[in-house]
Amino acid sequence: MTASKRGLTTRRKRDSILQRGIGGTEPAMDYCLRIADNALENMTLAALEAYCLGAGGKKKQIETLGYMWGVTNTARGTTNIFVERMSVSVSARRHPDWVEPNDDAPRLKNEIIRRWSPHLKMLGDFHTHPYESLSEVADEKGYEFSDDDFECFIDDDFMWEESGNTPLMLVATITRLGKVRDSHGPTHLRSNIVAFDIGEFRIWLNASVGYLDEDGKRRCTRNKGSPVRIDLGPRLFNFSGDRVFGSGNGSGNG
Ligand SMILES: [Zn+2]
Repeated sequence: MTASKRGLTTRRKRDSILQRGIGGTEPAMDYCLRIADNALENMTLAALEAYCLGAGGKKKQIETLGYMWGVTNTARGTTNIFVERMSVSVSARRHPDWVEPNDDAPRLKNEIIRRWSPHLKMLGDFHTHPYESLSEVADEKGYEFSDDDFECFIDDDFMWEESGNTPLMLVATITRLGKVRDSHGPTHLRSNIVAFDIGEFRIWLNASVGYLDEDGKRRCTRNKGSPVRIDLGPRLFNFSGDRVFGSGNGSGNG
């Protein structure tokens, strides 16, 4: 398989993507994505180092890429995806506007996870979108996946096979804030996009999940109208109307 770039480029390949059937039939599922603290910490470390220090050379604010492992299960019409591990790929070619995966990296890393953590499966990959400023992120809608991102995702045979046709793509968009204000935990831009601050940096996480449609064709959830919810703080969020006891789901309520 040829390595393909994941970058900031948008709209360029829209026609070819429409022909390939990204989007189209809606998934029958909702998806709930949770991320273990250590995996989220690794994502944040990778995004910040690539942003602040680049690859150690002159270029700063470069994209970076990693791979994720975890578990999934499906209950009551929702596929729950729990990201347990994230390992950054040091062999990816990294640039301010794109990152090119080394196709051998996920295979090599997956063999190690198979031996040491056989209860986990490969879920997908993670990459970053660095931006100069908050206004640049807003102007370019930098937290969205690019058309190239979706195209690479649909074509990534290894991830589709290893994840059981439920691959996950995660992007962390990062910028430096001009002014740092109080923030009270993660906030949702949409169900599939969550933002949080760390020091003078802001990070947005966006998630897309792949699925097979009725004809067995590969599809993935889009930037907008997504059935994916990222839940970064299951202990901290409480949605209005939620009940944990006597809610008719078989618990309590004699
Ligand atoms: Zn991207």
